[in-house]
Amino acid sequence: IPVEFSQALPVLEKIIEHGYEAYFVGGSVRDVLLGRPIHDVDIATSAYPEEIKAIFPHTIDVGIEHGTVLVLAGKTEAEHYEVTTFRTESQYTDYRRPDHVDFVRDLKEDLKRRDFTINAFACGIDGEIIDCFNGLQDLSERRIRAVGKAQERFNEDALRIMRAMRFASSLNFSIEEETFLAMKSHAPLLSKISIERIFIEFDKLIQAQGYKKGLSVLMESGAWQYLPQFKLEPLRKLQRELVASFTFKSSEQAWAAFLVRFNPDVDAHQFLRKWKVPNEFIRDVALLMEAYREQEWNLSNLYRFGLKSIQLIDDLRQAEGKSVDEKLVIRLNQALQIHDKSELQISGHDLLTKFPDLIQPGPKLGQLLKSIEKSVVLNELQNDKVHLFDFAKNELLKNKE
Ligand code: ATP
Ligand code: MG
Repeated sequence: IPVEFSQALPVLEKIIEHGYEAYFVGGSVRDVLLGRPIHDVDIATSAYPEEIKAIFPHTIDVGIEHGTVLVLAGKTEAEHYEVTTFRTESQYTDYRRPDHVDFVRDLKEDLKRRDFTINAFACGIDGEIIDCFNGLQDLSERRIRAVGKAQERFNEDALRIMRAMRFASSLNFSIEEETFLAMKSHAPLLSKISIERIFIEFDKLIQAQGYKKGLSVLMESGAWQYLPQFKLEPLRKLQRELVASFTFKSSEQAWAAFLVRFNPDVDAHQFLRKWKVPNEFIRDVALLMEAYREQEWNLSNLYRFGLKSIQLIDDLRQAEGKSVDEKLVIRLNQALQIHDKSELQISGHDLLTKFPDLIQPGPKLGQLLKSIEKSVVLNELQNDKVHLFDFAKNELLKNKE
């Protein structure tokens, strides 16, 4: 039993002392059984939200309409637990979220609404695993299988199609036949699912160990047709060329690698706007892609992209079997006098005060600062007030002639 569970035990025990049932459920039980690191511990209970709030002095209503109460068992975030009442979900009229949830007292009802057998375990305080749908066998045979009738489950919530391939990717599991056939026949329902929710799953898919497998499920199921901007041929090529063992360091790195391989001439802004991701994310991915297209590193592009981005790109190149010169990057970085405009020893304001007759606020001032910045970056000019003013004065007099 992992520390994350033993730490949470008092919470379960307290609920049980009050006469209710309580179990660990969801992804954490699956990950413990697989010996993988767990991130969030989910607790399910027969107690209703109001009953949980009566048991624990410190709680927050984080999603009470879904039956979830956050129990603050201690000061640190690690001691905050999501406790969710057993529930069923009903009437998915629009192929996505349920119209309403009903709280129930029976654990099995709660496990039945879960997506896949390996996500539908419960684990009691004594460590006993409750496995109503043969999830243990699927786990040992490394298989994703829908709980109940796959057709119905994807019809209820088409996001589960994305989740199936995301788990295939993160666990490197295959997809059980009937589940796969249902994914294929229900893929068109993905067009009803918000792109933000699809992004969350696909983002996890492309960063996981089984990326290659995840993409092949995406293509074979036909689900790719419902993802914005996707085309089959480039996906095929990308999937073939993927290096199976690479671990991405960030979502931005994974998307940049995905997009340049998908289409070297792709416009990241146009592509990612269709995925409705935040502008800041688009900017970061686009910048990494630009860096990826550079042939070699020098002072000017190191300054532009920053050391971190360049290391992320070299990382990708190395994975592709290309040689990279890490020492060169370190050397260039040491040679850079500034890493940001703000490190320049003079400002626009300084220039205006020093040369009131030669320059006024406006675009000319911006141009002058740019050329100062460029010369400092290229080490043609020393970054100290004397040299910078001297350079500025020369430029201004030159322009006056
Ligand atoms: P991760 O390790 O990535 O967090 P997870 O299995 O914990 O994986 P979550 O999205 O955190 O996945 O969901 C927690 C649990 O809730 C799942 O294990 C599953 O039992 C259930 N669940 C989540 N989303 C759905 C869904 N769309 N349909 C049915 N059950 C779901
Ligand atoms: Mg989770």
